[in-house]
Amino acid sequence: MGFIADRVHMIKPSPTLEIAAKAAKLRAEGRNVIGLGAGEPDFDTPAPIREKAIQAIKDGKTRYTQVDGTPELKKAICAKLARENSLEYTPDQILVSCGAKQVLFNALLATINPDDEVIIPAPYWVSYPDMVIVAGGTPKIAPCAREDDFKLTPKVLEKAITPKTKWLILNSPSNPTGGVYSKEELLALAKVLMAYPHVHVLSDDIYEHILYDDMVFHSLATLNPKLKDRILVVNGVSKGYAMTGWRIGYGAGHPDLIKAMKKLQSQSTSNPCSISQMAAIEALDGPQDFMEERNRIFKDRRDLVVKIFNETPGLICQVSKGAFYVYPSCEGIMGAKTPEGKILNSDTDFADYLLDSADVAVVPGVAFGLSPYLRVSYALDTKLLETACQRIKTACEKLGLPSSRMASL
Ligand code: PLP
Repeated sequence: MGFIADRVHMIKPSPTLEIAAKAAKLRAEGRNVIGLGAGEPDFDTPAPIREKAIQAIKDGKTRYTQVDGTPELKKAICAKLARENSLEYTPDQILVSCGAKQVLFNALLATINPDDEVIIPAPYWVSYPDMVIVAGGTPKIAPCAREDDFKLTPKVLEKAITPKTKWLILNSPSNPTGGVYSKEELLALAKVLMAYPHVHVLSDDIYEHILYDDMVFHSLATLNPKLKDRILVVNGVSKGYAMTGWRIGYGAGHPDLIKAMKKLQSQSTSNPCSISQMAAIEALDGPQDFMEERNRIFKDRRDLVVKIFNETPGLICQVSKGAFYVYPSCEGIMGAKTPEGKILNSDTDFADYLLDSADVAVVPGVAFGLSPYLRVSYALDTKLLETACQRIKTACEKLGLPSSRMASL
């Protein structure tokens, strides 16, 4: 028996962080590597939010707060859920944690018993399966097809449900595909869920505000109030407010679940940072107009990336509708030979080729449970982004693929 616990050996280190480390190493060697792996907006936290935090420090808001968040922040969260999502919650139905990540972790730890299953539509955010494993459960991966825009269909959902299913994790807008569920798609899933009262839903809404092309965000709990008590709404200020470093996320759900999660949090981190909580109040209550301008910049970048990738031999790229990722297929690259004579047999081989020969770091689809794809983040300076995409295009052209493999949508 080793000193390190088995549960640590059962999970993988974050592949996105691994790629970032590899890119950093090459940069340290003097290479001009552009990273397309960022999971956070490249914008600053808006000035009024930062000012609020400075004021909080000056005002001495530097002590422990209530474990589950200050009453003022919970009030702002309840107001946000009512205003933006037409969802009524009372403060005992809210838990504030150190990011949406801790909310999800608390929820799984608070509910999963050995053998419980959690349905995770693939491609998925890298952390979901490992969080389920740490909690002692079994991730049940539900593969979603490109033809369905990588979204879960009622048929795939129903097939994945067993008597052991405890949760379904839904994430819209999606990391890694940028897909957004429509009202009709969610209603169809709700219909299936109504027939299986033992299945609960973790609704990861963290990219709610980052939407394009007049897409509207819909919450399952709003669309079907009968499911509300079985849904934990997971959200936070990280992405929409460019506050990833502040570590404020929140969950809204049944009071018994929230109480259990609070108990766990009281014996782990206690409250999230007191200063960040003050800043989060300003984020939720303050002006929201900066988001429109930022989404416009993201959209222009998305258009740029999709255009270049669809002109790149071997790649096919869907138009993402939200978040700041695209998930191009590289099926057309599989089996291709590099100028150095290496055969590219997987998306990992392809990502390695791009890093080694084009100085561009991307995350292979295998990390998100669906291959052969790449996840490309466009949360970086537009000029750099364009250079990186052109480098990818040139690298693919060097593979000398037949023109029959040219991308078409
Ligand atoms: N959920 C998804 C889908 C994410 O992509 C992320 C961050 O990358 C999180 C949750 C975690 O958010 P936070 O930074 O608030 O913990």
